[in-house]
Amino acid sequence: MTVAVASGKGGTGKTTVAVALVLSYDRNSVLLDCDVEEPNAGFFLRSKSIKKEEFSVPVPVIDAAKCNLCGRCADFCSFNALALAGSKILVFRDLCHSCGGCSLICPQNAVMEEKNIIGEIHSAESDKIFFVEGTLKIGKAMSPPLIREVKKYGKGENLTVIDCPPGNSCPMITAVRGADYVVLVTEPTPFGRHDLSLAAETVSEMKIPLGVILNRYGSGYKGVEEFCEKRGIEIILKIDEDIKIAQAQSEGKTILDVCPEMKDKMCGIVDKIQKGLTK
Ligand code: SF4
Ligand code: SF4
Repeated sequence: MTVAVASGKGGTGKTTVAVALVLSYDRNSVLLDCDVEEPNAGFFLRSKSIKKEEFSVPVPVIDAAKCNLCGRCADFCSFNALALAGSKILVFRDLCHSCGGCSLICPQNAVMEEKNIIGEIHSAESDKIFFVEGTLKIGKAMSPPLIREVKKYGKGENLTVIDCPPGNSCPMITAVRGADYVVLVTEPTPFGRHDLSLAAETVSEMKIPLGVILNRYGSGYKGVEEFCEKRGIEIILKIDEDIKIAQAQSEGKTILDVCPEMKDKMCGIVDKIQKGLTK
């Protein structure tokens, strides 16, 4: 079963929840940190590094000796990664989506490929969990291929938890796609409600069942609960605002270290999701 933990905006406690879910589950499980622009789940795990490898995507290189400057590749590329400029074809590597179309369309066989290293994949393990993290190189914008690669490590496990990028755009959708269930983490503020509504709409359009965890509960703001009730979305857990949780996190401790009772609650969530999916 794959559970994606996402949020409409950063800073809601998404990673806290993802780590707690996977550590609470006593059987073999996998945590995939797909928040590749700012991965931080590893900060909370006492795991042993086992592998680090570069991740690259293919990008075109034009063989000037063969190219007759017909411009067909530039016309074809819908991402503006190629441009005919005077006597050469310019390649904007960081705009390229590696679709391979330009090399197929070139009548001169002038389009070769080379590697563009966009990030790293790091895997680690502890007694109970296998952890994989993708890190996008600074200045690189194309996170979906790296996210897809990290997700390959989660296939066929008892429980795979994905820590997704925040927001509702392409990276979040790439991380969530294929999950059995999505947990949306939010906080009781008007911003939290607004971003939750956008994230919930995205996940609903993808036809994936979802539930909400309301973090830092206790401000008195009821907008999130009202929204969930109106939309028929279950709030599967409320985590009270608690200074000791924030302090523990700043020291690399998890919510389970300071609120041991949270372990049963997190396990209950996993069991409930599992039962709901197998009904
Ligand atoms: S399609 Fe091929 S021959 Fe035409 S401009 Fe592009 S690389 Fe050159
Ligand atoms: S591989 Fe695709 S996206 Fe990249 S330059 Fe060629 S046509 Fe454009």
